[in-house]
Amino acid sequence: MLPTSVEIIKKLKKAGYEAYWAGGCVRDMLLGIKPKDYDIVTSAKPDEIEEILEHTIPVGKQFGVILAVQNGHNFEIATFRSDSGYSDGRRPDAVTFTTAEEDAKRRDFTINGMFYDPIADKVLDYVGGQKDLEARLIRFIGNPEKRIMEDHLRILRAIRFKNEYDFQYEPKTYSAIVKNAAYADKVSNERIGIELNKMILSTPPAAPFNDMEDTQVLKEIIPELLNLKGCAQPFEYHKEGDVWNHTMLALNSLPETAPLSVRWAVLFHDIGKPDTFKLKERIRFDKHVNKSSELAHKILIRLKFPRKFIAEVCWMIEHHMMMVPLVDMSEGRKLHWFLHPLFLNLMQVFKADIEGTDPQDFSLYEKILELYRESINRMPEEPAPLITGKEVMEVLGIGAGERVGRILNEMREKQLGGEIKTKKQAVSLLKKIKKMEDARLKVASKVKTKAKK
Ligand code: ATP
Ligand code: MG
Repeated sequence: MLPTSVEIIKKLKKAGYEAYWAGGCVRDMLLGIKPKDYDIVTSAKPDEIEEILEHTIPVGKQFGVILAVQNGHNFEIATFRSDSGYSDGRRPDAVTFTTAEEDAKRRDFTINGMFYDPIADKVLDYVGGQKDLEARLIRFIGNPEKRIMEDHLRILRAIRFKNEYDFQYEPKTYSAIVKNAAYADKVSNERIGIELNKMILSTPPAAPFNDMEDTQVLKEIIPELLNLKGCAQPFEYHKEGDVWNHTMLALNSLPETAPLSVRWAVLFHDIGKPDTFKLKERIRFDKHVNKSSELAHKILIRLKFPRKFIAEVCWMIEHHMMMVPLVDMSEGRKLHWFLHPLFLNLMQVFKADIEGTDPQDFSLYEKILELYRESINRMPEEPAPLITGKEVMEVLGIGAGERVGRILNEMREKQLGGEIKTKKQAVSLLKKIKKMEDARLKVASKVKTKAKK
């Protein structure tokens, strides 16, 4: 990708235009991090870029952005521009093509506002980015408050970049964020969700959440999380303190490879505790897993996450306490859990929950891991199901629906537990189930008629 981006810059320069790497890739290169992509800026106008380069797509031509496809890589090539007016706090009302310096000044933070000429090996820094990079500072270019008013997402971007690179805020940048925290609420929920994903994937993931809490931004975007602050837990089992502390410790314990859904599940696994807090013989949070899942669902829908993703997160939250009963389950039932596609993700949530607790007790976690390994080793290959959904519907004379899934699960458990081994046995069990269900229905309808009389 890097040599191709240099190739493009050479072509643009050869045609008589200025061309540089811009923004994030310059910042990352100077930090010694491998850039994710190479954005290019140039004095060439969109039409001229299209003439000079072979494969281009006019992705944002009206804003001066052309996508170039070369050697299988994509590059955003933007004409130097300045933005004029942001009536919606997001997209500029119009763009004017200008100079490199003007283009640098419309960018958000000094460390994101530099250009680099890879041929001359020269950094173009109109905004003091290098100095801030050395001092490890996040500083708005220009007047911080004005920059926040133009685009409120910059509040979240400041918090993300500061924590992604373990920097500090320049004081005026910090106070502008605190003063204008309420505007974070005005950002569209999709954009908030995308930014939060980037935050929760950074290392350590709790840091941006602590900053959002500190700057009052969290109150605007996930107020439900604030209730974890000051929510007491039984001291004997949770010397780490309140639910907020526990959650942040759990989040930070996740390995870098932890998938996004596991991260969100850990963040919300105890969000139902404040609502279910009761002082009985000790502090208890009965049924908090259900409340947590309900709240997580509400929040993730609000932030426009995909349905399937939300279902996965909520499943992990709902089952994060099921490891205790699991040990005593029948072999078939255990296998049913072990073979669940999200079981190992659930184990990550369970482990993080322990890591975030003081004192830590991994004995149950290790026991389950051992049982899991034993079961999986005993079964070199997952056996094919003995019966299909279609057959269940045929034998029972029912249509597709939740009931078929429920019965298939039951059949699977019996198969994995060794109670049924052949298709014949499966069908006869199915018939038994049908008989029992028919009898139950008969009784239920009798009760109904009686009630009517
Ligand atoms: P990342 O590594 O997260 O992609 P990045 O710096 O490349 O970081 P992008 O969102 O890809 O961030 O944006 C590319 C560049 O565009 C930024 O470096 C910055 O110069 C500019 N930019 C992006 N978003 C904004 C914004 N909301 N306001 C002003 N400038 C922005
Ligand atoms: Mg980028």
